[in-house]
Amino acid sequence: MHANAANRLLHHYRATARDLPWRARPGEPAPDPYRVWLSEVMLQQTTVAAVTPRFLRFVERWPTVEALAGAADEDILGEWAGLGYYARARNLIACARAVAVRGGFPETEEELRKLPGLGAYTAAAVAAIAFRQQAVVIDTNVERVVARLFALTAKTDVRAAAEAFWPPEHSGDFAQALMDLGATICRPKSSACSACPLLPDCKAAALGTPEAFPAKAAKKAKPHRFGVAWWSRHGEAVRLVRRPPKGMLGGMAALPGPEWCSEQPAANPIAIVRHEFTHFTLDLLIVPADHDEGWWQPLAELAKVGLPSLYRKAVDAALAAEREPRLAA
Ligand code: SF4
Repeated sequence: MHANAANRLLHHYRATARDLPWRARPGEPAPDPYRVWLSEVMLQQTTVAAVTPRFLRFVERWPTVEALAGAADEDILGEWAGLGYYARARNLIACARAVAVRGGFPETEEELRKLPGLGAYTAAAVAAIAFRQQAVVIDTNVERVVARLFALTAKTDVRAAAEAFWPPEHSGDFAQALMDLGATICRPKSSACSACPLLPDCKAAALGTPEAFPAKAAKKAKPHRFGVAWWSRHGEAVRLVRRPPKGMLGGMAALPGPEWCSEQPAANPIAIVRHEFTHFTLDLLIVPADHDEGWWQPLAELAKVGLPSLYRKAVDAALAAEREPRLAA
């Protein structure tokens, strides 16, 4: 049954593969490993729709891994702004430089895994898709499809089931076929089983409860943290600093301010911005103050420094508060 199901899925993929700028069409030569790696890093925690225009800008500006390796950190972090999860951008820089030094990407999952900041998932994806190596690639879409196909409640059981089912000679296409199926048919909340090539073999569909697989972990309440951002204006410019290289939003341009903490600070803000990070919720209090670290950034040229979403929202809230002080206070 497994071989037939895998063949049906590959056949379906060849007819319906999504056209994405980092992919090769089924049957074409393998895609550039630089583009596969860059897209996989960008797609972690971010949707295809959000990544596609950003990916195209990145490869237009830095068409090769060597070009990216030679770029200034600030330029790369600025181009990454708004994509979130900034540790990814810092890892991207470290990895690009290591690849440039060694003269190109290694081809095996094991060697790829040795590159700085390149995790197990990305190593498997680059090996399978760009180098046509045998590798089992499990992202959240693949995990969901395999869990449903075998009616597995525990995500920890998915890898062994996937390995038994994975055709070694078509690892890259098979991974992309499962990713596409998870994105378009075997969706988290509304699976379109009648259009699915795996339907004859699918245990979750036979049970009539596809959405029950895999079981969802109970959501933990998120902790709450607080921060202060100093709002320092000089004409049509605002004071910005660069955050320390390690930690949240490391290396990104930001409004100045002390470390975030779990106690609400005693301050008199003109506005408060709430921002959801993966592991906590932050209330950022925007407080007028004179500040002399960093640099004056013209407000008309904020886009050039690539502010992360939190600080972009903070600047907008502060400007709105200046226009309508009583409403924003
Ligand atoms: S039959 Fe339904 S639940 Fe099973 S893999 Fe296909 S879309 Fe998912």
